[in-house]
Amino acid sequence: MQNSTPVLIVKKFGGTSVGSIERIKHVASLLQGKGKLCVVVSAMAGETDRLLKLASSVTSDPEPREVDALLGTGEQVTASLLAMELISRGVKARSFDGSQARISTDGIHRHAKITGIDTSELLASIDRGEIPIVTGFQGVDTKGDTTTLGRGGSDISAVALAAALKAKECHIYTDVEGVYSTDPRIVPNARLLPRISHEEMLELASLGAKVLHPRSVYFAMAYKVPLVVRSTFVEGEGTWIVPEEELMEKPIVSGITYRTDETKIRIAKVPGGIESIKRIFVTLAERGIFVDMISQTGSSEGKTSISFTVLDEQGKDALKIVEDACRELKASEVAVDTDIAKVSVVGVGMRYHTGVAADLFTVLAREGIEVSMISTSEIKVSILVPRKYCELAVRALHDAFLVEVSVEK
Ligand code: ASP
Ligand code: MG
Repeated sequence: MQNSTPVLIVKKFGGTSVGSIERIKHVASLLQGKGKLCVVVSAMAGETDRLLKLASSVTSDPEPREVDALLGTGEQVTASLLAMELISRGVKARSFDGSQARISTDGIHRHAKITGIDTSELLASIDRGEIPIVTGFQGVDTKGDTTTLGRGGSDISAVALAAALKAKECHIYTDVEGVYSTDPRIVPNARLLPRISHEEMLELASLGAKVLHPRSVYFAMAYKVPLVVRSTFVEGEGTWIVPEEELMEKPIVSGITYRTDETKIRIAKVPGGIESIKRIFVTLAERGIFVDMISQTGSSEGKTSISFTVLDEQGKDALKIVEDACRELKASEVAVDTDIAKVSVVGVGMRYHTGVAADLFTVLAREGIEVSMISTSEIKVSILVPRKYCELAVRALHDAFLVEVSVEK
């Protein structure tokens, strides 16, 4: 009965791609005559935010189950409008919400994880010659309640469906042409990357490039789903996310990314060495604070100074915890800096080349950019700089690592 699967393609359209009736009609035109498809849609652009605002105007602490019941409507609107439009064009189509598509999740409302997909209904629809239009971002828990997968979760739905349906490819349609070597708003000569590895994409996605939900990339990697990101509005191949082995040329640097939503906390002169440091970080972990970069910034007379970064949204809580701990530990001062940016240089080729750090510091020294923290992985170097240097750092590093012909001085 699985005769439809070998040539099936899953196509997902994000919020701006279905942001108006005209755009929904345009999406329908892209689907006509394209063979066997399963389509996944987001809510119309801004709709999920609007629904969340409605919820918070009722109560500051809405019940998560009800929030999911509310948010689920956003994707249902686009799924049924797109199905209607296709049917009016003589194309067989049928909308499916998360439960009808049999996307099972755990019961963690607003951050549910997919536990399984029973593809029988979708395959039956495809076998009837229909295009199933599935709501992204939602599933159903064992109680039959609607759950949602976290903001931006339609990408996860699309890749998970592609894996479950054994689709040949998963195409993510969005409002940009693909993944760029850096933010084109800052660096006009940013390049559209034709191919990038899963790991690079994960680094870029979690470091701030918002093109794909990181969990969708994990799914694509784990289930070997060929994945491409491309524009709904401009024709083009987009960016393929491929296994590293398939990258013919392994660029030392594929992309430069940045984020400005972190807070740095510095604790100076903590007595008690590693035991005290441990106490601080254990407490932070116990209270659910995600610590990102860490650096020990000095140590003298048995006292240590240490700095770390957390997301801005956890900054206040983290500071409170650290201040309490420091009072107990008699550390002399705590300083907070929100005027920072984290700039990261990412590329699988770093595994095979030396000298990336040397080049990076050469560029930063030439531009007079101070760095207060560094963290590295096999395929990434991240630096923390004062916010005012963020754009300069991104531009200078992009020029140095990604522009082949550099301008003569
Ligand atoms: N509509 C949801 C959101 O805005 C899910 C998505 O678009 O991926 O977060
Ligand atoms: Mg998205």
